[in-house]
Amino acid sequence: MPRFNEFYLNLNQSYLFAEIRRRTKVYTDAHPDVRLVDLGVGDVTQPLPAAVVRAIHEAADDMARRETFKGYGPYVGYEFLRAEIATHDFGSRGVKIAVDEVFVSDGGKSDSANLQEIFAQDCVVALMDPVYPVYADSNVVAGRSGRADESGRYAGIVYLPCTAENKFQPALPDRHVDLIYLCYPNNPTGAVVTREALERWVDYARAEDAVILYDAAYEAYIVEPEVPHSIYEIDGAREVAIECRSFSKNAGFTGMRLAYTVVPKETRGRGADGKTMSLNTLWTRRTSMKSNGPPYVIQKAAAAVYTPEGQTQVRALIDFYMENARIIGAGLRAAGFTVYGGRNAPYIWVRTPPSIASWDFFDRVLEKANVVGAPGAGFGPSGEGYFRLTAFGSRAQTEEAVERIKTRM
Ligand SMILES: *Cc1c(COP(=O)(O)O)cnc(C)c1O
Repeated sequence: MPRFNEFYLNLNQSYLFAEIRRRTKVYTDAHPDVRLVDLGVGDVTQPLPAAVVRAIHEAADDMARRETFKGYGPYVGYEFLRAEIATHDFGSRGVKIAVDEVFVSDGGKSDSANLQEIFAQDCVVALMDPVYPVYADSNVVAGRSGRADESGRYAGIVYLPCTAENKFQPALPDRHVDLIYLCYPNNPTGAVVTREALERWVDYARAEDAVILYDAAYEAYIVEPEVPHSIYEIDGAREVAIECRSFSKNAGFTGMRLAYTVVPKETRGRGADGKTMSLNTLWTRRTSMKSNGPPYVIQKAAAAVYTPEGQTQVRALIDFYMENARIIGAGLRAAGFTVYGGRNAPYIWVRTPPSIASWDFFDRVLEKANVVGAPGAGFGPSGEGYFRLTAFGSRAQTEEAVERIKTRM
């Protein structure tokens, strides 16, 4: 039999959300009549905007007629959508992105997991800690991490701790790194980056010949005017940054599957012979080999997000979730908890009470308040001592969860 990829053995034991589900099931099996409120996994709950639904119907009709039927589409996505993205998400903020720098895909999860494969195996990876687990895991199975110690830290990965002590703004790496994953607004801490801090990252990357993989999945949640929406708002970023965005959290596409990645033509990698190559060329090559693009119907649905009606409806969705965030933040503060995030991001990052570990607090909230959250430690070693609640629930669930935590914890 063939040997399997043993780097998979280096993955931390269980995927965070699988362990949350397991513990939740143990509890509900033992207490079948308890009704839990789930603010843990972080999936959206509101239905799709009406403009998007109409576009799905129209696109289905296109598929029903010989004249408008679509077979395989362009590997990198339809131009009608890529042009809307370039104009609305970047052009409107004074950032020039060309259509052939936009790569449409089925998800920010897959994009952020896949990007590492155009880089050499010996590249040194730096990660915010805590952060979305996909960046670490995709590099672990590619053989860049080595094994984890008891705290879950991989020897081969450079961690950039983000804690209340540094206001969730990580320091620059104290050594050379090749790839830097930044996620702003951040999942799970809800932190945003200032323009000055982002300039420091771009300067670092330029000085070190590093590349920044910038995950802006929560860009639509930014309300503070001075917070940058795209890394390309920073001078010099086009040479050193790749940016990922998704329709999941703004337009509720978690079940629809649509995202995109921007790879500017100026981003370059270096070969063993010292010659350089455009990462845009490499990513185009990789995408044409592995993808036939997301479904036409879904891309039409995504394009509807950029219509005036779609924009208004998406704004209403975000406002709805951010009111949940406000309710959770205010309620937990009133209950005496120290709370971060929830202002430019749909996540509330709660300090656990002194000397209570993340998973113990998770169990306690589950048992006493019958609320499911997510333990901070599941997002990285520096998440220990924190707990995440999402603003993606219904209004009733959100209010109920806050009331239970206030009265029972
Ligand atoms: C939800 C999320 C994404 C987007 O995921 P999709 O695969 O597009 O649904 C990307 N990055 C982060 C940090 C996220 O939380």
